[in-house]
Amino acid sequence: MSVGARSGVAPLTGPRAFHVMSKPTGAICNLDCEYCFFLSKDELYPGSGFRMPPDIHEAYIAQLLAAQRGVDEVVVAFQGGEPTMMGLDFFRRTLELERQYAAPGQRILNTMQTNATLLDDEWGAFLKENDFLVGVSIDGPRAMHDAFRVDKGGKPTFDRVIRGLDVLKRHGVDWNALTTVNSANGDHGLQLYRFLRDDLGATFVQVIPIVERVTAELLPLAQSGWGSRAGDRPLYRQEGDLVTHRTVGAAQYGRFLIDVFEEWARHDVGDVFVSMFDTALAHWMGMDQVGLCVHARTCGDAVALEHNGDLYSCDHYVEPGYLLGNIADGRTMLELVNLPQQRAFGQAKLDTLPDYCRSCDVRFACNGGCPKDRFTTTPDGEPGLHYLCQGYQGFFRHVDGPMRVMADLVRRGRDATGIREWYSVRDAKRSPDQPCTCANGKPWAQCHGARGEPAHSG
Ligand code: SF4
Ligand code: SF4
Repeated sequence: MSVGARSGVAPLTGPRAFHVMSKPTGAICNLDCEYCFFLSKDELYPGSGFRMPPDIHEAYIAQLLAAQRGVDEVVVAFQGGEPTMMGLDFFRRTLELERQYAAPGQRILNTMQTNATLLDDEWGAFLKENDFLVGVSIDGPRAMHDAFRVDKGGKPTFDRVIRGLDVLKRHGVDWNALTTVNSANGDHGLQLYRFLRDDLGATFVQVIPIVERVTAELLPLAQSGWGSRAGDRPLYRQEGDLVTHRTVGAAQYGRFLIDVFEEWARHDVGDVFVSMFDTALAHWMGMDQVGLCVHARTCGDAVALEHNGDLYSCDHYVEPGYLLGNIADGRTMLELVNLPQQRAFGQAKLDTLPDYCRSCDVRFACNGGCPKDRFTTTPDGEPGLHYLCQGYQGFFRHVDGPMRVMADLVRRGRDATGIREWYSVRDAKRSPDQPCTCANGKPWAQCHGARGEPAHSG
């Protein structure tokens, strides 16, 4: 889960433009969000202090900058756990290292994914002065956010996040909203999106579906979450074909995306960027390997760096079978990323697609989703279908018309914002009691046709 580049997308401009999500505190976080499987990764490093030591810190920056010479902009990404727990001096040192190791003219974008609860004015001034792009994790208005995003005592965190976000806004820091879609907010796409846009002023939004897969054996433990409050919780692995109660439903996720899209496409194209929609438009324009990795044909260019220098195939595969090596053990990060096992990891995304996906009409946009969630079976019984398939299919088919219009506008050198006019011509002819275009069964005037109702943050 990364702020990656500006659109929430891993940069894929060349073979060396791999993306590293570094975890300077490992899995350690000051919060205890119930769905955060990453909290359980502390079990990989028993006895560790969970702070990236100076030599690994230096190797990380030096190797990344050396590997990405010739890339337009190097993204130095920090996430967690909670990276702000490292304190400001760690990030001041990061900037020193970048100055030391950058090639002349090499452009660097520093990004951080944070829960925002530890941000104060000193942080705000620092982040602004050094042009950090900050991703803030927020799951919607208070009740939706607090459903699963709680602290170590199980207390809600909404007010603390808003306070941290206010710090960023006061200092003019560039920020993105990163919102997980789960069972608690999955039925409220429109309300949630309006809250992010209108109450918070978000202009870049990344949504991530929560899919926690588990085996039957582990399900009872997993239901109470992955944080430290859940005493005996297991190490999360990509195993099993059951899901926890926090997991978003497949059809629910499709409806969520449609709910947001119907609002965004009418009013916000060009003003608000939603990474899922940007990625879809790129696919409708015939581009393939751009945008969110989960919908690319192949992957393997976004690796995860643990606090001790261990490099893993992906942020979602920080587990022993996917360890590529340690960046301080003789092979550089670039060499580890180029290992045959990592190339095979990325290629498997394409090679393991079930026939059902290969013949699917929206495969060009979906590409079967992330392999980590391919644990259901196709209608004819082939294993390896994505858990969210029903939602993906519903969403991609639903947006085909407007996506074609936008893609055509862009191809003709015009602006995709022309889609707003396309909608307004059609909406002008709609009567208030006609079914809403989002197909949820409500009348138009009480659904996407109703504007200006503020989402309630309190
Ligand atoms: S495994 Fe999934 S999340 Fe990881 S790089 Fe591949 S598509 Fe992306
Ligand atoms: S929508 Fe379903 S069948 Fe089609 S490519 Fe995606 S996962 Fe496969």
